[in-house]
Amino acid sequence: MYNETFLRRAIEISAKALETPGTEPFGAVIVKDGKIVGEGINRSVMNHDPTSHGETEAIRDACRNLETVDLRGCELYSSCEPCALCVAAMNIAGIAALYYAADMAQAGGAIADLPEAARFPVDVDRLTHECGHAVTERIMPSEQHLDVEATKILHDWASLARSRV
Ligand SMILES: [Zn+2]
Repeated sequence: MYNETFLRRAIEISAKALETPGTEPFGAVIVKDGKIVGEGINRSVMNHDPTSHGETEAIRDACRNLETVDLRGCELYSSCEPCALCVAAMNIAGIAALYYAADMAQAGGAIADLPEAARFPVDVDRLTHECGHAVTERIMPSEQHLDVEATKILHDWASLARSRV
């Protein structure tokens, strides 16, 4: 069941990217039985790992903390709608439900403002076309909340990147 505290935590994690070089403002938490069991932020640039998204990092963290690869019954809260890569990882791990803030269109608006050199290389529309269905057409239940707050952080990130060019 949706709990705003956890989505606010995911957004708070995303905002750390404004101060942490090598990260991007996409944060996620995994919740089991009303408690956070894993957290993640996008560290693709820092780790030289294109699969280091907030959601995959949160799944890795939760699995290590719980010493399992089975996250059935867990919920994922993300500052942004997960890409197809992360949806695949969520389904492999058995995540039961998704709650997210900014959606793909809102994130895309901020990413379009990034300077060319810092532009997110993922073509989300192509990825969705190649890998599966839109968020509203999936079996996994999902809800969007707090999108305005999460999208502001994405635009702050793009402004910060532009100021450094
Ligand atoms: Zn992703």
